[in-house]
Amino acid sequence: MDFALTAEQKLIVEATRRFTEQELMPYEEKVERSGQVPSGLVEQIRSRSIAAGIYAANMPTELGGGGLDPLTLALVERELGAASYALQYIVARPSNILRACQGDQIERYLLPTVRGDRVECLAMSEPDAGSDLRGMKCSAVRDGDSYIINGTKHFISHADLSDYVILFAATGEESGSRRRKKITAFLIDNGTPGYEVQPGYQAVSNRGYHNFVLNFDDCRVSSSAVLGEEHQGFAIANQWLGSTRLQVAAVCLGRARRALHLATEWAVDRTQFGRPIGKFQGVSFKLADMQTRYEAAELLTLRAAWKDGQGTMTDTDAAMAKLYASEMCQFVTDEAIQIFGGMGLMDELPLERLWRDTRVDRIWDGTSEIQRHIISRNLLRPLEKDRP
Ligand SMILES: Cc1cc2nc3c(=O)[nH]c(=O)nc-3n(C[C@H](O)[C@H](O)[C@H](O)COP(=O)(O)OP(=O)(O)OC[C@H]3O[C@@H](n4cnc5c(N)ncnc54)[C@H](O)[C@@H]3O)c2cc1C
Repeated sequence: MDFALTAEQKLIVEATRRFTEQELMPYEEKVERSGQVPSGLVEQIRSRSIAAGIYAANMPTELGGGGLDPLTLALVERELGAASYALQYIVARPSNILRACQGDQIERYLLPTVRGDRVECLAMSEPDAGSDLRGMKCSAVRDGDSYIINGTKHFISHADLSDYVILFAATGEESGSRRRKKITAFLIDNGTPGYEVQPGYQAVSNRGYHNFVLNFDDCRVSSSAVLGEEHQGFAIANQWLGSTRLQVAAVCLGRARRALHLATEWAVDRTQFGRPIGKFQGVSFKLADMQTRYEAAELLTLRAAWKDGQGTMTDTDAAMAKLYASEMCQFVTDEAIQIFGGMGLMDELPLERLWRDTRVDRIWDGTSEIQRHIISRNLLRPLEKDRP
């Protein structure tokens, strides 16, 4: 196996690292303290990332995107991941689900989103349906050539900065005892009568990156708002869920690497009992474990991304990368705080933020338990099939 990066990949990594350090990190503290990203800064980051060629890097060049293969994209995500999520997400990687756009939807949603003229949010989760998406209650009932949508979504990220929502709603029920919902995806513009965005909750992770409640009250949309085919929403989402999970994994690498770097420097510079604390095995062995877990997570993530590029990535590959990288990042940021002692908890340093921010990575885009469920199900099912 060849683990070496190509010359082009090295250049892209260096350019993204420079962008992260120069265009994102200087604003982190201000955003963290105010809990807001000033709108001028949103525009600045968007336009500079477009100029730098890293906006919509996940989208094919024929659509105007960066056309990066999944492995190179994961390297880019890793570099961006070092910075506050409230800032680095503005360097958009539009939802791959938008590739299902057809006809007018391409000009209306897909292309402007890749250009940075429009921004989407994505709404699956509901108060009574998180992990169990196919138990969702938000419904879209067919009425002639339109659908009438009723229901509530919550935890919907950056709906404040979005121009439209990719909404997942129930359009029927499977037959059988489990009565799983048939799900359809819709594209719905802000301002559509009956669709309202309301403030959500304050999360401990990613201050400045807000979540919202979306209410649909007899919201009528034309059948041309269906993304992909009716009842195929879950299939479309599943098709792209792997790349979303790889993104979370790669972002965790960047965040963990930053914490590890800070902790290593501190272990050399901080003196107690007349010696640098890194000379105490209690501290140096922490660093050894942090580095080892980091490298293991990086291998899992980049290998899954490489397989994605070959068309051989399984849902187990993506689940293992997300599970391990997010748990690694929680461990590394926590141990980094321990190495800093009391100073690690102070907001003078980015460490407590890195630790708080990564907490959500074990929850969104499928909790750690759901990733374990996917991995174990794929181990057990083939054997169970042969048993009486
Ligand atoms: C800050 C933030 C932003 C988010 N942004 C978005 C967004 O933009 N769009 C969107 O659609 N969603 C978003 N989400 C929702 C997120 O995807 C859900 O929180 C996540 O899927 C878990 O759902 P839940 O919170 O309802 O937990 P639940 O599903 O209620 O789970 C509760 C606990 O039970 C466990 N559990 C559930 N089922 C099983 C099982 N079968 N086996 C073992 N354990 C199980 C879970 O692992 C968890 O520990 C966001 C969430 C947060 C916190």
